[in-house]
Amino acid sequence: MKLIFEKSVCGRGSALLPQNDVPETPLPEGLRRGEPLELPEVPEVELDRHYTQLAHQVYGVSSGFYPLGSCTMKYNPRINEEMAALPGFTGVHPLQDAESTQGCREVLRRTEEMLCEVTAMDAMTMQPAAGAHGEFTGLLLIKAYHAARGDGALRTKILVPDSAHGTNPASAAMAGYQVVSVPSNARGGVDLDALRAAAGADTAGLMLTNPNTLGLFDPNILEITRIVHEAGGLAYYDGANLNAVMGEARPGDMGFDVVHLNLHKTFSTPHGGGGPGSGPVGCKAFLAAYLPASALGEVQGHQSIGQVRAFYGNFLVVVRALTYLLTLGGEGLNEASRNAVLNANYLMHRLKEAYPVAYEHTCMHEFVLTLEELKKETGVSALDVAKGLLDRDMHPPTMYFPLIVHEALMFEPTETETRETLDAAADSMLELAKIAREDGDALHRVPQRTAIGRVDEVGAARSPVLRWNAQ
Ligand SMILES: *Cc1c(COP(=O)(O)O)cnc(C)c1O
Repeated sequence: MKLIFEKSVCGRGSALLPQNDVPETPLPEGLRRGEPLELPEVPEVELDRHYTQLAHQVYGVSSGFYPLGSCTMKYNPRINEEMAALPGFTGVHPLQDAESTQGCREVLRRTEEMLCEVTAMDAMTMQPAAGAHGEFTGLLLIKAYHAARGDGALRTKILVPDSAHGTNPASAAMAGYQVVSVPSNARGGVDLDALRAAAGADTAGLMLTNPNTLGLFDPNILEITRIVHEAGGLAYYDGANLNAVMGEARPGDMGFDVVHLNLHKTFSTPHGGGGPGSGPVGCKAFLAAYLPASALGEVQGHQSIGQVRAFYGNFLVVVRALTYLLTLGGEGLNEASRNAVLNANYLMHRLKEAYPVAYEHTCMHEFVLTLEELKKETGVSALDVAKGLLDRDMHPPTMYFPLIVHEALMFEPTETETRETLDAAADSMLELAKIAREDGDALHRVPQRTAIGRVDEVGAARSPVLRWNAQ
């Protein structure tokens, strides 16, 4: 497909500007460009077709199955969008006074209340704009807590299991902590002996996601948080993906002190491609004084870590989350989690004969296959199988993550998929396993049906060309 610049022909513009209705004020000489800006010039119909063609090349949850593990690409009900588009929400200005924004404040208050209930936390901030931002905020709370006790200089380490999402060690480092990696045990959970050995007087806290990125619920969770507390550290729950446990288990009841949620995953806002997110941070009452200023504009105490984002965070994402919470209700949320777990286990059972499961137990919302053997036998890698799925009308699962599994494919089907969709995906995967054994080389040449085939992924990541250079 041609770039819009390549379709441009001089003089074929389609701009229709309204009459200027304010006095003209020339820009200062030094700020004016010497030559006119080289904007593409195409007629309106070509412009329309160009973006329509581009839109057709985008793959989203509305196009088909999207089992991208750890990302919770669930269907986001349309009513959320309708509510977030109400003019009372879209037209509000963050500097408006409290009297004229009572409705919006009520949205923030009720969402906070419900999410505290779901997580067993006592207070929450809606400011963080994403999961990683929430992690950073939560770690600052932990830091402020230790500093207030005169322990700040001593407690310099954050323990992170080796199965953790990559943002965990990154956030800990950003918050000025040293990261200590805790190995997993044979079952895919935290190795308790290694944790006991690592926890000590220099431990500021532990960051953990449970179920972890292998999709496994750690049965030792109470012992894990006890060990960290006994060492004087705090326990941080990465709740980016709460999809397996809503109404089943609550981080606060597992012994966690701080948690972040990704509203753009579990609580139903379209994401991927960098759209607006929201990573609220909840904490137990003893940490509440350190939170950024309350969403409701209450005066921030002197112990607060301060604002982490302007105003109230990504407010319209919160509107979607509240709509989702209200339409599902407590029982609906629990049913969503149960179906997410059921769907993941169903798909895992259909695939496990052809592709070994990395740590085989009943999984939660996701599971991880390993194609290490397949690659040794046939030369077909996890990447090849993922590319093969592109020709079969589905988005591939997450590849090569978590890092502790070789040739990993991580599936998270989510609760919103039908059995027929899961079966179609399983059939495609089984067909690819068969092709791998019969004619492995064929899979090095896929995809064939997409706009572009194999790209130079290293080149694309290391030296991306993001600008059009007009000669
Ligand atoms: C997605 C995810 C994150 C990061 O969230 P962002 O909004 O992408 O910053 C952190 N932890 C886990 C377990 C996740 O799945």
